[in-house]
Amino acid sequence: MKNIMEDIVSERLEVILKNMDCCKCEQCKTDMKALALNAIKPKYANTLTGELYGRVDTLLLQNSIDIDIAITKAVSLVASMPNHKIN
Ligand SMILES: [Zn+2]
Repeated sequence: MKNIMEDIVSERLEVILKNMDCCKCEQCKTDMKALALNAIKPKYANTLTGELYGRVDTLLLQNSIDIDIAITKAVSLVASMPNHKIN
């Protein structure tokens, strides 16, 4: 079983970060992902039998504005106070 939101947030984060002028190191990206995932309801899929359902669902969820909003908020927060020294 896995939380399919993790994959969706990872994919959307890459897209959103392309348009953002902020640190994009692995540490910041992990912080952004964690923050966004905490703000989004997890969605679990059975990775053994639920592959098809999971994939169809993923396509629908990828277009969710709510997810983009949660990720954008997380990016802004981490960008304003990165968890490391500013390079
Ligand atoms: Zn960083």
